[in-house]
Amino acid sequence: MQPLVITAAVTGSLTSTEQTPHLPVTLDEIADAAVTSWQAGAAIIHLHARDDSGVPTQDPEIYRRLVARIRDKGCEAILNISTGSAGGRAQLDERLGCLELAPEVATLDCGSMNFGDERVFENPMTFLRRAAARMRELGVLPELEVFDTGMIENARRLIDEGLIAPPGMWQLCLGVRGGAPADHATVAHMLGRLPAGAHWSLLGIGRHQLELNLASLAWGGHVRTGLEDNVYYLPRQLATSNAQLVNRVTRIAAEIGRPIATPDQARELLGLRGVAAPVS
Ligand code: ZN
Repeated sequence: MQPLVITAAVTGSLTSTEQTPHLPVTLDEIADAAVTSWQAGAAIIHLHARDDSGVPTQDPEIYRRLVARIRDKGCEAILNISTGSAGGRAQLDERLGCLELAPEVATLDCGSMNFGDERVFENPMTFLRRAAARMRELGVLPELEVFDTGMIENARRLIDEGLIAPPGMWQLCLGVRGGAPADHATVAHMLGRLPAGAHWSLLGIGRHQLELNLASLAWGGHVRTGLEDNVYYLPRQLATSNAQLVNRVTRIAAEIGRPIATPDQARELLGLRGVAAPVS
């Protein structure tokens, strides 16, 4: 069985400490969550930056400090930096400043959508081309975040245009209000639209997190877990940490004989270049 690459999405930009007191929001808390999630078996840590008061930001300087703090603590995981909007706070091009840190992986949200009841998450094709081109120049692998089937087609256009190398690293993001629902028929349809050989992972929002973790394990995909997507361990029982959620995935994987990819095994699988020179 192909090794399982676990991504821990440790803080996000929409989850708040009002939802759970266990959410890491300071630089040190986020760095500690990265370390403990990596120790629990996550090969990839998906990061959002937050300022000193815990407010999400796309400020590249804060990302630089966060990455340095994580590496100072000895964490060898692959770091996957968000190019999202910090909860609607960052304009399109401000979102891309963090790419200059040349992380091994960065997200690319492959289309625009309603996001909840009030926000539109804006990702026009012209922006996607700029982002993909800069990632290619800097040797950053885009994680293709797709929230519905149309976004898969957008990403395939970028592949056809030579801006993204096939087959791509795909994250199917399911259960957001405004995006594709987290049901098996939808997942099966979306998986059928991916290029041959695609590296894929599923994420489910809220109660869908665990069921899509299980579907990925059963269907041979990769897994994303963490407090960004879901704050509960069981119904009405908050998860106490990101590592607790990662640990459950590693236990289930062990039970079904699915080996867990180390960061270096994940680098080999995904064709990553390895950790960049230390951020100074
Ligand atoms: Zn994110």
